[in-house]
Amino acid sequence: MSILFSPAKIGTLQLRNRLVMTPMHLGYSPKGEVNDQLIEFYRARARGGVGLIIVGGCGIDRIGNAFGMTQIDDDRYIPGLRQLVDAVHAEGAKIVPQLYQAGRYTHSALTGKPSVAPSPIPSKLTGQTPEELTEEKIKEVIDSFSNAAKRAQTAGFDGVEIIASAGYLISQFLSPVTNKRTDRYGGDLEARMTFGLEVVEAIRKAVGPDFPIIVRVAGNDFVPGSNTNTESRAFCQALEKVGVNAINVTGGWHETQVPQITMNVPPGAYAYLAHGIKQAVSIPVIACNRINTPELAENILEEGLADFVGMARPLLADPELPNKAMTGETDSIRPCIGCNQGCLDNIFRLKPVSCLVNAEAGREFELGQIPQSAQTQKVLVIGAGCAGMEFARVATLGGHKVTIWEESGQTGGQLALAAAPPDRQDFGYLANYLASACQKLGVAIKYNVKATSDMILTAVQNEGFNRVVIATGARPITPSIKREEGVRVLQAWDVLLGREKTGQNVIIVGGGAVGVDTALLLAEAGTLNSETLRFLMLQHAETDQELYSLLTQGSKKITVLEMVKGIGRDIGASTRWSMLADLKRHKVNCLDNHTVLEIRADGVLVESTGDSTQKVIPADTVVLAIGSCSQNELYNNLQGKLENLSIIGDAAKPRKVLDAIHEAYAEGIK
Ligand code: SF4
Repeated sequence: MSILFSPAKIGTLQLRNRLVMTPMHLGYSPKGEVNDQLIEFYRARARGGVGLIIVGGCGIDRIGNAFGMTQIDDDRYIPGLRQLVDAVHAEGAKIVPQLYQAGRYTHSALTGKPSVAPSPIPSKLTGQTPEELTEEKIKEVIDSFSNAAKRAQTAGFDGVEIIASAGYLISQFLSPVTNKRTDRYGGDLEARMTFGLEVVEAIRKAVGPDFPIIVRVAGNDFVPGSNTNTESRAFCQALEKVGVNAINVTGGWHETQVPQITMNVPPGAYAYLAHGIKQAVSIPVIACNRINTPELAENILEEGLADFVGMARPLLADPELPNKAMTGETDSIRPCIGCNQGCLDNIFRLKPVSCLVNAEAGREFELGQIPQSAQTQKVLVIGAGCAGMEFARVATLGGHKVTIWEESGQTGGQLALAAAPPDRQDFGYLANYLASACQKLGVAIKYNVKATSDMILTAVQNEGFNRVVIATGARPITPSIKREEGVRVLQAWDVLLGREKTGQNVIIVGGGAVGVDTALLLAEAGTLNSETLRFLMLQHAETDQELYSLLTQGSKKITVLEMVKGIGRDIGASTRWSMLADLKRHKVNCLDNHTVLEIRADGVLVESTGDSTQKVIPADTVVLAIGSCSQNELYNNLQGKLENLSIIGDAAKPRKVLDAIHEAYAEGIK
């Protein structure tokens, strides 16, 4: 890791390495204040070895902020901000706040005031139409930015970052889609840059020549009619001229239809945007978005695509990532899997951020270190799925001795299902991490053991186990639907795991996450693989249109049937839209509000819940994705026969992976 962990400078700011924790909305400051939750969260990341932490966004005013956001719009916040700065400095990292104004992305229901923007163009995120800023109001917003920067300097921060990306206020001024002004702030690109540049100039005037200023830009808005790489480069050149010290390059706006940070974005996909800007400026450039391993970060620096690498979610998942990478323990890094279930999805639900893979994230202030038990227990866990392994990991760290009996020949349980569809392989990295952590800690995993109540009772008696944890997961539900003889009916789990093959004309019954995953897996059959695509593109062998068709139109005809309204309702908001877009792209026929009445030899008889019309949809294979039920028979049989018995994960109640991991952690520290 020679380049990543080599010291470097942003303006006058000396950093111990080139790894930057990029800002993420945490929702930890309900009253805008710095509190123990925020301090301990960032202290842990600073202790973990990151070079620079960018906190935020931090609201510069009360008309463009968001829920739970740390505020920097009043001097009363300075003492708290100073405490945060001191905590991070004490761990050897540097820290800057991101100065945030969301313009038309602001929810007026949260601020109690109308949102503002360069022009009254309705917001696709809020559905609201913002008020157009007068020149007088523009001056007030610029003053709010510069006052916030001055406060940051007073609080001891090492610089500031200005957000001019993602579709927030400064990007709205930059874009011809949202800026229709006819005064000096609107018109051609030069005029549209005026607001952003005036913000920088005002901040520079307030903080003096040596205080580092970073600007976060969209490398490409990825919004039809908006700015692309070309305009972004021109803006960055103008920023350099007015004294900006570094450019932090992210991808598109929040309203883009091009996924930016979901699991289907290839790791490091947008580093090319940073490279484009690096070629246009001489100040340092930070590359971001789905850079999730130190190896990838190193590679980006080695290839000269950027000068620094930004990570946010990977440090939420594992604050110790930098230290582990520096000491060569990369296989001990708990991976961010890009699921967004604990982070972004929580923000959409106006809840503080947590993390699917790391139950401690955001709770450092109340959890501290895993407590060491005064008395070592000998624990038998039944099931080596994610709940069983997370429990074993945590309990072992707490000083207990854990043995796992696993029915199959491998660990991971249902994570293998989650990892099966295209672009969902990251779930498999979590399974690998947990297995490797258990192995390193000395957890004994015995495979191909089909546990019975008698075996467990005997083991408790003969081997001295004084605690038993049931983590046997769930099994798919088989509904009682009338069916004719000879119809091929499969369980989605078997299709996802490759245990069963379908025909060419498939109906999937159940439009939840498993149904959608199965549809996307089957839709890939017969499409072009990436290697062939590369070859054909390099040779200009086919038209773009033909290549798109070859990539999206496979060999199977697929229908997803859902009884109630909406497909993929149990998928988090940050990911669902992108999976639904994939279904559409692959021309998967999605029918919600349809009840399956009968499975026939030639297809499925369905009834529309709206008008009760019935029809037969032809199919040669029916795949069931109705849901799952707990495998809790062992637990039920053992209740009352064992003193120290508990049940965790899907065995207790089928839920999301996050719930299983967090429940297992909570049980493990008991
Ligand atoms: Fe990464 Fe998922 Fe954790 Fe978010 S919740 S940090 S995406 S692992």
